[in-house]
Amino acid sequence: MDISVKNKIKSIVGQENYFDSFEDRLVYSYDGTPVIHQMPEAVVFPKDEEQISRILELANNVKFNVVPRGAGTGLSGGSVPTENSVVVVMTRWNKILEIDEKNLTATVQPGVVTGVLQKEVEKIGLFYPPDPGSLNVCTIGGNVANNAGGLRGLKYGVTKNYVLGVEIVLPDGKFLRTGGKNMKDVAGYNLRDFIVGSEGTLGIITKVLLKLIPKPTKSITILAFFDKLTDSAQAVSDIIAAKITPAMMEFLDNTTINCVEDYTKIGLPRNVEALLLIEVDGRGSEVKDDAETIKFILKKNKAVAVREAFDEAQANILKTARRSAFSALARKMPTTILEDATVPRSELPVMIEKIVKASKMFDVMIGNFGHAGDGNLHPTALTDEREQKELDKAYRAFDYIFDEAIKLGGTITGEHGTGLAKKQFLEKVTGPVGLDMMMRIKKAIDVNNILNPGKIFSLSPRCEGTLPRKREQIKNFDENFS
Ligand SMILES: Cc1cc2nc3c(=O)[nH]c(=O)nc-3n(C[C@H](O)[C@H](O)[C@H](O)COP(=O)(O)OP(=O)(O)OC[C@H]3O[C@@H](n4cnc5c(N)ncnc54)[C@H](O)[C@@H]3O)c2cc1C
Repeated sequence: MDISVKNKIKSIVGQENYFDSFEDRLVYSYDGTPVIHQMPEAVVFPKDEEQISRILELANNVKFNVVPRGAGTGLSGGSVPTENSVVVVMTRWNKILEIDEKNLTATVQPGVVTGVLQKEVEKIGLFYPPDPGSLNVCTIGGNVANNAGGLRGLKYGVTKNYVLGVEIVLPDGKFLRTGGKNMKDVAGYNLRDFIVGSEGTLGIITKVLLKLIPKPTKSITILAFFDKLTDSAQAVSDIIAAKITPAMMEFLDNTTINCVEDYTKIGLPRNVEALLLIEVDGRGSEVKDDAETIKFILKKNKAVAVREAFDEAQANILKTARRSAFSALARKMPTTILEDATVPRSELPVMIEKIVKASKMFDVMIGNFGHAGDGNLHPTALTDEREQKELDKAYRAFDYIFDEAIKLGGTITGEHGTGLAKKQFLEKVTGPVGLDMMMRIKKAIDVNNILNPGKIFSLSPRCEGTLPRKREQIKNFDENFS
């Protein structure tokens, strides 16, 4: 990037909010996604909407790319810089602006950490349910941009179910406010829902209005162990079929259990094939009734042990252990590729078997865990990116897993987004017409394709972004494999 352009950017945000040393750029060259990284030209921390708008106007005029970034915990490469890009970091926009107890809403800046908001509203008996495993670090802006899910998605839904309004700066620098405190509003196209899940490609979010709900007052947390994976999957299907909706129903396979136990040392049995962590919550006697029915179903499906947490502290230890699954697996091998295959819940037992098959067929260690109640699994390949052959095996396994998920009516990502990591699979899910419509929307809103280009799909070679995978290498590997 030309030094004169850098100077213009610096003059917009001020010297103190502009960084372009090698070290600074390195820190912002990757997110939570393995293998994918690229150095930005500069990193900025804008102070207000005006500065964001001016950066975007300049980007359109002199043609550089702008990459919005929250905490950088994304698992699809959404905030990884593309070539010739400036990273706009929103973590300093971390104020909770209002908690409206009459309308049950919270107005927040996008850099507010999700877990911080949750603790704040819970102090006054309110509840913000979306709880990604990264909640102690990730930001509301990143959650909205990725439509993040979490452990409680089964009963309470995902981020989109709580976004009432957003304010964004559009790629051409104009401001847009859409949505509001009305519980009903069908005036025109629903632009708000359009922004949710747009992965930083349609605008930079500067303010979010969120719906809150009353906090459940009772909860029961149950832990069940199974000698057979398929029995645990069948138990999940049977609980759903019994018309019970737990707040969470999480699954861990043997590899994940062992890694979590190595990490947390909470006494999980190492020899079982699967574990289910289930929580029911509410405000009345139905909580106890549902817990009893669930325990009955678990035992009927050959759970070798069913335990109930003694108290909230013990329940929290178990949930924290589950949230550590990714970090625990990541300690095992140098590279951890966590995926996000999702199927209709009734297909969960089949999908779990397909993942086991992929691990054997492609000779790659795969730990599997996830939001079983949502049919959202996180098969996680434990590999070493320094060994291209090993990496290719993992990619082949995921190609297979995605194909099988799609055959079962599922999708390539339930909550992590498409980003760079999965754009090559997108058309398999959307079909050509769906993909073309998405591209036309992007072209209409971001005429010069300057905002987070190359994410979700590629519009032109200029904005290809860091290539997620070298397909040719995988093809060569395929040829050598048989
Ligand atoms: C240990 C771990 C556990 C996780 N568990 C879950 C889980 O349970 N469920 C789940 O859904 N995800 C999970 N994730 C993935 C990740 O935390 C989420 O996708 C989260 O929403 C990302 O938030 P972030 O602030 O880190 O955003 P980033 O990673 O910085 O960015 C994510 C995307 O949002 C865009 N973006 C960020 N801020 C803005 C803004 N202000 N305006 C416009 N675009 C913006 C970026 O361009 C990028 O495309 C997990 C990740 C880790 C590392």
